[in-house]
Amino acid sequence: MSTSFQKGKQIIQRLKESGYDAYFVGGYVRDFLLERETNDIDIATSATPDEVKTVFPKVIPVGIEHGTVIVRIDGESFEVTTFREESNYTDFRHPDRVKFVTNIEQDLSRRDFTMNAIAMDDRGTLIDPFHGIEDLRSKSICTVRDPALRFQEDPLRIMRAVRFVSHLGFSIERNTKQAMEEYGSLLAKISIERVVQELEKLFSGLFVKKAIFDFWETDLMNQIPIMKDSEPIQERVRMLRIPLGNITEIVAFCGLVDSTHSVRRIVEEWKLSRQIRAEADHLVSAINSYKNSGVNDWMIYRLPSHLDQSLIRLVEVIMDDKIPNEIIRVIRNQLPIAERKQLTINGVDVAKWFPNKPKGPWLGQWMEAIEHAIVTRKIPNEKSKIKEWVASHGEHPPTNH
Ligand code: ATP
Ligand code: MG
Repeated sequence: MSTSFQKGKQIIQRLKESGYDAYFVGGYVRDFLLERETNDIDIATSATPDEVKTVFPKVIPVGIEHGTVIVRIDGESFEVTTFREESNYTDFRHPDRVKFVTNIEQDLSRRDFTMNAIAMDDRGTLIDPFHGIEDLRSKSICTVRDPALRFQEDPLRIMRAVRFVSHLGFSIERNTKQAMEEYGSLLAKISIERVVQELEKLFSGLFVKKAIFDFWETDLMNQIPIMKDSEPIQERVRMLRIPLGNITEIVAFCGLVDSTHSVRRIVEEWKLSRQIRAEADHLVSAINSYKNSGVNDWMIYRLPSHLDQSLIRLVEVIMDDKIPNEIIRVIRNQLPIAERKQLTINGVDVAKWFPNKPKGPWLGQWMEAIEHAIVTRKIPNEKSKIKEWVASHGEHPPTNH
């Protein structure tokens, strides 16, 4: 038993001692029964957030209106959520009303899939009104109650079904799958950020091939911005056999297989961050360079080292080619410089070598040309040699990179 489990148990016991009901719930119970590692422990209780605050000294209110607080025990965080029901999702984002309820069965009935609607108390007793254990055994993903209703209530559940396929390798129950296809178009009503979060999980599971098949079969690819407009992306997604690590890799993948969709456009449509855009751009340049000339010093120098594994994965997925880890490591270690700061000259020096030229973009072009010449070992990183090399080219830097 993990120490997190012991601490979670302590929370449940303390709530019970104070007269409330409390259980482990959600993904934690599912993964516990499947003997899989889990990242977070969710606890549900009959105590309201205010009541939870009276039981524990350290409580962080994260989503009081939805009944959720974080209880901290020995530096670890546990989400404790009051039993609740949800109703009327008119905006397809949040339930209009969250009603706190007093029994666990009511709470379990608002959950998405039967495997996620099992509660377990501190002694390991299971409460399973929707036969989630049976579905875990038969590896079946099945909504709690009528799938048509549940998907209309919150269409994000449609994406959640395929992302669970990707991580668990389960099959989607027939009626659930049919309703996914029928109500897939409702995904357009959901905020793109939430859809993309699920998309990232869909692409990253060990069983991605199986999940992509369901994703395609239920026509969901045609509900996702960017993907829905691109035959090449859809075709390549269908060929995917190994998982992609994160959303940055998915953006780079889409940008590479369909150049009519630039990284900029994908990032805008999916409302992603500037950092993801910059990283996806780096990956696209590195892979284009690899396509032309294989692994080379300049390409590795330009790629931030934390993206090395993404490069390896994308080259494998897109080109069916393997770059050994070792090659990248050796090239990185042997680069003449690791970053521009290590040059023995700077912009001020270069400006002095052209005393009559007013400052302008030419300076940046020279700096990059010098950097390239040093990284590719045309010249050593010595001030006098660099100056000579610059003088030998006259006014304009060579444009061979
Ligand atoms: P993971 O292992 O990826 O965290 P999880 O099942 O814990 O999977 P969460 O998103 O952390 O998924 O949600 C926790 C629990 O809350 C779920 O197991 C499910 O019971 C419930 N839940 C989450 N999202 C929804 C939803 N959209 N509709 C209904 N119930 C949901
Ligand atoms: Mg979870």
